[in-house]
Amino acid sequence: MRVLVQKFGGTSLHTREMRKHAIEHVREATKEGYAVVVVVSAMGRKGDPYATDTLISRAREVAGEVPPRELDLLLSCGETISAAIFAAELNASGIQASALTGWQAGIETDDSFGDAQILRIRPQRILDLLSQGIVVVVTGFQGITDSGEVTTLGRGGSDTTAAALGVALGAEMVDIFTDVDGVMTADPRLVDEARRLDVVTYNEIFNLAYQGAKVVHPRAVEVVMAHNIPMRVRQTSSSTAGTLITSVTEMDRGRIGPARLVTGIAHTAHLVQVKVLLPQASLDDEEQEERTRQALELEAAVFQRMASAGVSVDFINVNTLGTSFTIAEEDLSRAKAALEEIHAVLRIRSGCAKVSVVGAGMHGVPGVMAKIVTALTKTRIPILQSADSHTTIWCLVPQERLQEAVVTLHDAFELGKSITLTAAREAVS
Ligand code: ADP
Ligand code: MG
Repeated sequence: MRVLVQKFGGTSLHTREMRKHAIEHVREATKEGYAVVVVVSAMGRKGDPYATDTLISRAREVAGEVPPRELDLLLSCGETISAAIFAAELNASGIQASALTGWQAGIETDDSFGDAQILRIRPQRILDLLSQGIVVVVTGFQGITDSGEVTTLGRGGSDTTAAALGVALGAEMVDIFTDVDGVMTADPRLVDEARRLDVVTYNEIFNLAYQGAKVVHPRAVEVVMAHNIPMRVRQTSSSTAGTLITSVTEMDRGRIGPARLVTGIAHTAHLVQVKVLLPQASLDDEEQEERTRQALELEAAVFQRMASAGVSVDFINVNTLGTSFTIAEEDLSRAKAALEEIHAVLRIRSGCAKVSVVGAGMHGVPGVMAKIVTALTKTRIPILQSADSHTTIWCLVPQERLQEAVVTLHDAFELGKSITLTAAREAVS
């Protein structure tokens, strides 16, 4: 049995019109001889009646804080509605289909409500249906614990459901259908010139996604990467091929062509920069060393507090002045409360955003950082902080300059045009 998993996101299922497009993709796949498993998100986005964010705000409006267990039970309804309706519409269009919730589909998770991890999938029920030629529509984003509690998987959870089902069913491919034409060199909402990439490696898309390109969730990429299952990102409203996500081996076979220096520009908005300062004085070398030791101790204390407050930190710098890092805006009050316990001296800057230049090919290539700094400085965009790893260079900028920063970097690396590695290296030298 050749299994294909097709995941449809919230906007892809929002209107009847969109669902008709989705149905045609399912029909196409069955005609090609695939046994099809459809994974659905809740319909629409915030403001739409059953979208996840709408359900969250409704519950908070009436009850204030909702216990995590009850919140997950509520949130799971969005996908359940979606699956039931989509299966009904498939049947009405002459495609035999059956809807399954996370638990009916055998998706077992741990008990971290709101951010549960899939532990295992017992795919027998899905396989039985597929072998009878029935399309199985599974709710994304949800599962069940050993003790029978309903859980949800957190942001981008339906992508992870699709990837995990792909692995459990030995699928030939996992297709992520969404409202854009594929993986682009930057978020097309910010950059008009963003270009679709035909093929990307798992690593490239993982890094882009991890840095905020929400077109596919990084956890989903990790799952398919571990089992070398190809994934495609495609547009629901068209029949274009989209972007193929595959391994470097495929790239070596020449399918990707010359490696890219920079894959794309990703961004994360709504961040707060937190600086925790040490008292200052003029210092000789020995005192500097002592200072560094104190800074590291402070860092350890700070991050311990952040971890116990459940605040995730990023962009960490440590120097003789102290330590600085970023957190999500929504975590600010919790972070402050935790840091007050250690009487830390704080400098807080709200309204920040992170732009990341991501590329598997830029490791060790001189001039990339210089190019970034030059481009941003020329546009007079302040760089509040920067850091790099072997695949990514990040800059923290004021939120109100975010779009400009993304466009500037996209231009600087000429990502709107397709270029070869040699040309890219020449461009930064
Ligand atoms: P879905 O509801 O289908 O899961 P998402 O909103 O989660 O859709 O993801 C699709 C969105 O991702 C696009 O509308 C686009 O604005 C955004 N996006 C961000 N970065 C990129 C990128 N590099 N390529 C394509 N889309 C991107
Ligand atoms: Mg998504």
